[in-house]
Amino acid sequence: MSCHYGLDKVPQVMKPFILMNSEGWPGIDRAIALLQEGALSLDVVEESIRLTESEERVKTVGFGGAPNAMGVMQLDASCMRGDTLESGSVGAIENVMHPISVARKVMETLPHVMLVGAGATLFAREVGFQETDILAPSARARFELECPPAGDRPLVENFISPNTQGSHGTVISLVGDAHGCLTGGVSTSGWDFKYPGRVGDSAVIGAGLYVDNRYGAVACTHCGENAIRASLARTVMLYMQKGAGVREAVTEGLLGLRALVGGYQGQLVIFAVDNQGEVFVGKRFSDGTPLHALFWNSTMPEAQMIDAIAAE
Ligand code: ASP
Repeated sequence: MSCHYGLDKVPQVMKPFILMNSEGWPGIDRAIALLQEGALSLDVVEESIRLTESEERVKTVGFGGAPNAMGVMQLDASCMRGDTLESGSVGAIENVMHPISVARKVMETLPHVMLVGAGATLFAREVGFQETDILAPSARARFELECPPAGDRPLVENFISPNTQGSHGTVISLVGDAHGCLTGGVSTSGWDFKYPGRVGDSAVIGAGLYVDNRYGAVACTHCGENAIRASLARTVMLYMQKGAGVREAVTEGLLGLRALVGGYQGQLVIFAVDNQGEVFVGKRFSDGTPLHALFWNSTMPEAQMIDAIAAE
């Protein structure tokens, strides 16, 4: 893979960088080492996310993530190249340890962008991904404790209470490389004990992820339903396209969520970096838990923590 310059405005990424959220801790050091060796951003994104996907201690992504309401692991992931706007995603994929790699493979081998459910799993099998049970022992124990069997009750009854709370998380990785290329990726097990077949924003390009070399890279975490309703990542990018800095663009994106009326409303976090490596992380409807991201660029000896700023 090389970097393409098909777009009308070639960015000058001065320093390679990586922005991950706190779930990215298993992958950040390896990602920095790869960037220091001159690796391409797509490879760095994939590797940083793979390391998180196989880490059982991350309770919201890949192995270690939460199953759906039937105890079945269904994962979402996507990736996007900022030089060509090529993208790939999988939703509700089963029995695969590395959905980010399947998403990349969709992008690189199919004329499609998004595969979901049985088709995504079939594709993974056909192109050689090993099928494996990815319900970790700790996740099975959590499911048995926190999601009592429905018995004869319809599963839907788990979801109709106005107090239904989504508990979830995602790993995000937004990378600029020494070749002037931006790439982003996200991966998640989604809403803990979700309704089977539920697909969140991480699989939806424009909602949970958007990358464009001309402007920057944006990813969202937390309430994917709201990010989908607002086309949030693309909306933030549009503010950047129209000249807003990253902080202003993220804040406008978050304040725009005021237009959502009805339905489930939950916390949202937006991670954005422009093509010069300026970074901002904003949140809305915070439950008070401090949220931070990990950011590194080639002038720094190691990754720094960045706090998410509330926009209200
Ligand atoms: N946005 C993810 C989803 O809705 C989960 C999260 O990031 O908390 O599936």
